[in-house]
Amino acid sequence: MYLKNIHLYSFRNYTDQTVQFKAQKTIIVGNNAQGKSNLLEAIELLSTLKSHRVSRDRELILEDAQTGQILANLTRSYGTSELALILRSSGRRTVILNQEPLRRHIDFLGILNAVQFSSLDLELVRGAPEVRRNWVDTLLIQLEPVYSHILQQYNQVLRQRNALLKEIRKRELANQNDKTESFSSDVSQLNLWDHQLAETGSRVTRRRARVIERIRSLAQAWHSSISGKTEILQIKYLPNVNWIEDDPIQVQQAFLEKIEQRRLAEQQLGTTVVGPHRDEIEFTINHTPAKSYGSQGQQRTLVLALKLAELKLLEEIIGEPPLLLLDDVLAELDANRQNQLLEAIQDRFQTLITTTHLNSFDPQWLKSSQILSVEKGQ
Ligand code: ATP
Ligand code: MG
Repeated sequence: MYLKNIHLYSFRNYTDQTVQFKAQKTIIVGNNAQGKSNLLEAIELLSTLKSHRVSRDRELILEDAQTGQILANLTRSYGTSELALILRSSGRRTVILNQEPLRRHIDFLGILNAVQFSSLDLELVRGAPEVRRNWVDTLLIQLEPVYSHILQQYNQVLRQRNALLKEIRKRELANQNDKTESFSSDVSQLNLWDHQLAETGSRVTRRRARVIERIRSLAQAWHSSISGKTEILQIKYLPNVNWIEDDPIQVQQAFLEKIEQRRLAEQQLGTTVVGPHRDEIEFTINHTPAKSYGSQGQQRTLVLALKLAELKLLEEIIGEPPLLLLDDVLAELDANRQNQLLEAIQDRFQTLITTTHLNSFDPQWLKSSQILSVEKGQ
């Protein structure tokens, strides 16, 4: 796929800016805090409707403006699409595809596919489990947009179940006189939420397991090639609820059994401790956890292998090369890793690269790339 252009109106530090992309590779160069990452963030938003940097739309809109807009034209094997996203400080969004506002946001997902790679991605190895869950979830949303709906449903069930558990705990602490009566109604309500948690949770965990299964061999191959075949990478999915057979009924059964086991703990803590919001994904290199034992270089190699695997997996599944967004990462890679990355990209993936200086680039690359310089949001 090829992104032909993008227009930013009152987005971050851009007032009104049009960018035409004229080559397979675009290098966006500028000093710190000029708007390089903001431009990539706009593309990320069109791709996943999420930004990995913020959660509130208010921060995405130009200071003092009420609405912001991102508009882009994309060519895919099946034709061209015009994508538009309107952001409001109230948080209400409008997504528009080919000038038609869409009622369901999931119809907007999966049209512009992109893999983003930034220096923050080292957190994938070093950070909390939540970072790894987000990584898998974001990938899944691109591969099967309906997953965003599934995840939303799960989170809703989780919130409501947590509210009930908190309420039960509060009441038990207060030790009210009518404890028996409220207790039985709490139990029947909780049972209802248990089943919903098992149903939506099993959908989440089964999909996560499947995507990790698929990305594992791709990441292992890249990792072996980058590390010169000296290291073995293993990616393990450690679901909070263990299950053996990928069958909806059996997985739900496993959920209900674990919920039963942890019933007392949940009521004492006043929160849900069973479910995919507590999943972990573990990376090991030569059988030791990369998070605690990996050197900086090993961790970087691992992240690079994961990103290249993501790129290949997306390409395999959607049937055409996604975009690659490299935010400030080239300078952090040594010559060997840079070469591996550049070789993998070749001219197949439209690639946008941000950098503060051009001198770390291969001269051949500079010659064949479009170079955009950014200053103060222009
Ligand atoms: P670096 O090289 O440090 O990564 P960058 O060029 O990638 O820099 P960006 O993150 O793209 O920088 O842009 C940051 C700039 O955008 C900052 O100057 C910041 O103050 C400004 N900015 C961020 N959000 C808004 C907003 N909502 N309104 C106006 N300006 C904003
Ligand atoms: Mg930046």
